[in-house]
Formats: sequence, structure tokens, C-alpha cells
Amino acid sequence: MMSPDRLFPADPQSRDLARRLYDGVSDLPIISPHGHTDPRWYAENQPFPDPAALFVVPDHYVFRMLYSQGIRLEDLGIPRRDGGERETDPRRIWRIFAENYHLFRGTPTRMWLDHAFSTLFGVKERLSAETADDTYDLIAAKLQNPEFRPRALFERFNIEVIATTESPLDDLRHHDVIAASDWDGRVVTAYRPDPVADPDFEGFADNVRRFGDLTGYDTQTWEGYLEAHRGRRAYFRARGATSSDHGHPSAQTSDLPLPEAQSLFQRVLSGRQSAEESEIFRGQILTEMAKMSLDDGLVMQIHPGSSRNHNHRLFKHFGRDMGADIPTATDYVKALKPLLDRFGNEAGLTIILFTLDETAYSRELAPLAGHYPCLRLGPAWWFYDSPEGMRRYRELVTETAGFYNTVGFNDDTRAFPSIPARHDMARRVDCAFLADLVISGRLDEDEAHELANDLAYGLAKRAYNL
Ligand SMILES: [Zn+2]
Repeated sequence: MMSPDRLFPADPQSRDLARRLYDGVSDLPIISPHGHTDPRWYAENQPFPDPAALFVVPDHYVFRMLYSQGIRLEDLGIPRRDGGERETDPRRIWRIFAENYHLFRGTPTRMWLDHAFSTLFGVKERLSAETADDTYDLIAAKLQNPEFRPRALFERFNIEVIATTESPLDDLRHHDVIAASDWDGRVVTAYRPDPVADPDFEGFADNVRRFGDLTGYDTQTWEGYLEAHRGRRAYFRARGATSSDHGHPSAQTSDLPLPEAQSLFQRVLSGRQSAEESEIFRGQILTEMAKMSLDDGLVMQIHPGSSRNHNHRLFKHFGRDMGADIPTATDYVKALKPLLDRFGNEAGLTIILFTLDETAYSRELAPLAGHYPCLRLGPAWWFYDSPEGMRRYRELVTETAGFYNTVGFNDDTRAFPSIPARHDMARRVDCAFLADLVISGRLDEDEAHELANDLAYGLAKRAYNL
């Protein structure tokens, strides 16, 4: 089902070299420093219930495409907020998915799915209406075997370490269960404070109150609120966290004098702030988090530029992460300046910048990361975590920022079986890019081998202190 030379250059000389580079890295362990798999899977190690629950229901890449063609989320088994009716027969969900598999032609989702079907489950035929039931039966039967439980798959995927992402309001109980178990798979958390840091987050004021109950600090004052962050970051670090993550609408940062920060905090707690004040507050949080990172060493990730929950009706009925997040144009140069004025020259601080605005790569991000010691560039993300997206990323940033201001690959996925496929795709695209640099006389072959290794493994491990 898959060409062994997929994603390699068409010209035979480059392809041969890409293949040689890839052979040197294809079996390296997976470092997964940022993602959204559910720690419960590794804690409880229960079998995945059925093919639909593994491949369709949790994966917004899959159901957003189906939805775009008029298929209702209820018919794909996606739970409604009001507990309303939805399809509960996994085989029927699978049939809808299979009948519409042609919609994924030419997309990275198709390559990830084919990779998992073929390498994990031994599926030999392309998914379609005709093969739906046979494929379902094959996968469903295998999921009942012990070697398809989450921990066994984790080992089979050759994952050296994986980070999940949790809110400060999470008690991290699953991480505690994993740590206390006799299994030695390395699963760490990451600190994502958006629910208590973004005044526009659902239930913000309540969340801040619960944050206080949980940490024992008075989160109704600015000082107590910051102490609560410090305490919670230490709690997360004790569960392996090496990074924080910030999913803000923009890259705005602020550096307010203390009295202004205090009064802005009271204003956002009251819920009477303007949209602009919300933005300034989120920006102040980024600067405060950078300051805390200098003390506790957490690497900061900024994931801006997504207009989240763009489809109001879908959000109302199904909640967040339903495939309705849409990229927006994002400024970094002006937005980051307040934070960089404070901490930009700190070599002991690492801030990893991501973008959903590809026009920012060569105009803003590569020049920033190629200058400021605290800045690194995250890999091509989300809609651009694709063969063409990763290729454009390398083409647009390498000449200014080099390779060593980048941080390797993130799979950033909720879809567990897609992890090896995503890392394999990134390794192939990088090897193809490196092969072209060698063939066109810009890099020696031994350097390309070393770089292939760093891009697949070493850079992520070093940047995230894993
Ligand atoms: Zn993420």
C-alpha cells in the first residue's frame, strides 16, 4: 500500500542519497516533546475499544474533512455537550468513514492512516466501501490482543519519551499512576495554563478560583495568582514536565508596571474587560511565564494564530477541538518586543515559536530566531505538518536561522496510531531536503548524515531538555 520511496525526490541521484540518509535515521527512537495523547491510556493500559474509537472519533483531522462534505458529527459518534443522540455503533461509523475515504486523497491524513493500517494492522487493501467490513474486522480483532494495548504499542512505536499537555487544574493522577507502576515507559506532562490565563476561556473566573483552592494560594490577588502558577509549575515539574505551552490567539506580549498589572487582573476577574484588555492580559502572562522559566527551567512554547472555535454553532453543540480552528495572520516582530526587551538576551531561557501564518517564516520568525538567544523555531505545525508544509518550512527558514535554531519534530497529535507515521513523514521530508542541499553543492554528505540525525532525534531532545 505504501511506496518505500514515498516523499523522496523524483530525480534518481537525489533520491538515492535521500534513501541513504533516511536509512540512517528511520529506526531512531521517537522523541515526542509536544502532543495531546491521553495519559489515561498509558495509566490504565486498557485495550482501545474498536476501530472507530481509535481512528475516527478522537481525530479532528479526520472528522473535519467528513463534516466539510456534509456528514453530521453525530453520525460519526462525536459526543454532544447536551448528551443528545449520536451514533453508537462503531461499525456504522467506520462504514461512513470508509465510504468517504477518497476525500483524503492527497492529504497527509491519508498517508498517516495508510501507514497505521499497513504497518500496525497488516491491512493490504485500500480502505473503501467494499473493504470497510473486512478492514473493521481485522483491526477490531487485533485490538483485543495484548500487543495492541497502549503500553505495548508505545514500546513498538519505539517512543523514548512522550509529553502530554495538561491544564493547571488537572491533578495529573494518570501521571502518578504511570510513575507508580512497574512500566518504564516515559510519559511526562506539560504545563498549559490557558484555562486560568486567558480571560476569554470558558469559565475563566471560576477556573481562577479553583486554581486557588487547588494550590492553597489566594488567587484573587495578582501576587497570590502568580504564586499559584509557581507552585503548580513545580507540581508539574515533579511529574516530569520540561515545558509550558501557550495557545493564545496572537503572539502579543506585555510588560506592565506592577500597579497596572494588579488592576488589570482585578478587571479580568470581574469579567468587565474589553477585548483589548484580554489581549494585554494574555500578553502579560507570557512575560510572567518567561520570568518563571528563567527560575525553574521550563521551556516555553507559544502556539499562536489560531482563531479557535470559529464555527459558533459547532462549538455550542460539541465544544472545543472540533476541527473548526482556522489560522489567522500573525505578527511576531511587534508583538514579542515587550517580552524580548526584558528577556530576549537570556541564553538560559528557551522560547519555542510556532506559526500558522507561513508568510511569517522568512519575514519575521527566521530573522528573530536567527538573532535572539532565547528564541527557537518550532516545526511546521498543524495545517502545515504535511509534506509540502514541512518542505516550505525548511526552504523559508534555513538560510536565515540555520538548522540549529530549530527544534526537530513535534507530532502534536491526539491520534495515537498516527505517531510513527508522522515522525516517519518528517524524517523523509528532511532527508529529501538535505539530499538536495548535498547534490547542489551546499552541504557535504557527512554533514547531511549528522543533520538527519539531529533533525530526527537530537534537536528535540536537547531543546526540550528531555
Ligand atoms: Zn498542541
